Amino acid sequence: MSSTVRLQPEALHRVGYGLYVVSSRRNEDSANGQIANALMQVSGEPMAVAVCLNKKNLTHEYVSASRLFAASILSEETPLPFIGKFGFKSGRDIDKLAGVETLTGVTGVPIVTQHATACLEVEVERELDVWTHTLFVGRVVGARVLNDARPMSYAFYHDVKRGVTPRSAPSYVPHQDKEEASVSKYKCIVCGYIYDPSAGDPDSGVAPGTAFEDLPDDWVCPVCGAGKSEFEKVEE
Ligand code: FE
Repeated sequence: MSSTVRLQPEALHRVGYGLYVVSSRRNEDSANGQIANALMQVSGEPMAVAVCLNKKNLTHEYVSASRLFAASILSEETPLPFIGKFGFKSGRDIDKLAGVETLTGVTGVPIVTQHATACLEVEVERELDVWTHTLFVGRVVGARVLNDARPMSYAFYHDVKRGVTPRSAPSYVPHQDKEEASVSKYKCIVCGYIYDPSAGDPDSGVAPGTAFEDLPDDWVCPVCGAGKSEFEKVEE
């Protein structure tokens, strides 16, 4: 076995994750949520989970202060714009929970139920500083199954939904967006989403087989909301 390759970032693409909205609140009036993929159960007795959040994110600030968070496990049917709202927008600019279906459980943190298949409420008891992120570990104080939809894995999000990873995610790898070139694929320069004509953008009503040039002028990136002018052709 060769030992010449020491660090192949692509190996990390094979680590499995899910796709979650993690929400928290500062007080009665301000709450926020963000997409997280690094969440896992870490103990059975007590039932405990850990989530890894970027220190720059507003949700990180709220979890640090309140020691509470909720996690919504997104289903495979979740449309890209919904993920984009929580993953590529900041709660410092918009109220991300406005117009989103939520419920209030035992902690008072709004729990996103829209497009979720199950949800958890957590009281943080430990935290670990991990460079750019903080790993928050806490006891599950609420948990419920919302429906029978299949939970979305990160691989499904990438391969089927054609989603992208923001730079603030713990699993972000700088050259992941390299894509096999094709004459008519276009890339969003804001978030890295690739528009592939063969896939179209069904979540926005664009049928597979629609060329980028034929998209309506008011079409926007399904992930981050950028306009057509923010796209550049993917070179062969
Ligand atoms: Fe985008």
